[in-house]
Amino acid sequence: MDEYEKLLERGHLKLPESVLHKERFEISKVIGHLQGNKTVISNFSQICSMFRRDQNHLLKYLQRELATPAYIDGPRLILGRKLSSSLINNKIERYAKQFVLCPECGKPDTQLVKEERVTLIKCSACGAKHPVKTKI
Ligand SMILES: [Zn+2]
Repeated sequence: MDEYEKLLERGHLKLPESVLHKERFEISKVIGHLQGNKTVISNFSQICSMFRRDQNHLLKYLQRELATPAYIDGPRLILGRKLSSSLINNKIERYAKQFVLCPECGKPDTQLVKEERVTLIKCSACGAKHPVKTKI
């Protein structure tokens, strides 16, 4: 067996372990459809509870990011124009990175706390605290 093959074998042996230890938080995709000139996201409240964030917080963020008026209707979010699901998913992913996922360990077990007028993302999993750069 030459060096290259040994490396391959070692890499291969290590693979299952690293896959097991890698718990990545899966962000649910939006379930959206068009209704006239509007876009309806039917799993909006689910997404908010998965993030453990206030619905109005994500609502404000999306309104600003998509430059679209929007309102909450029960578990749904109604956006005031036609938008593609991929664009909305993209914004929700960015929201998660900025306001939900711990920058240190990547876990979603976080809270937003205010300290001296600075909003911090505080992680219950690893204890890290980071200032949130984006304002809503
Ligand atoms: Zn953490």
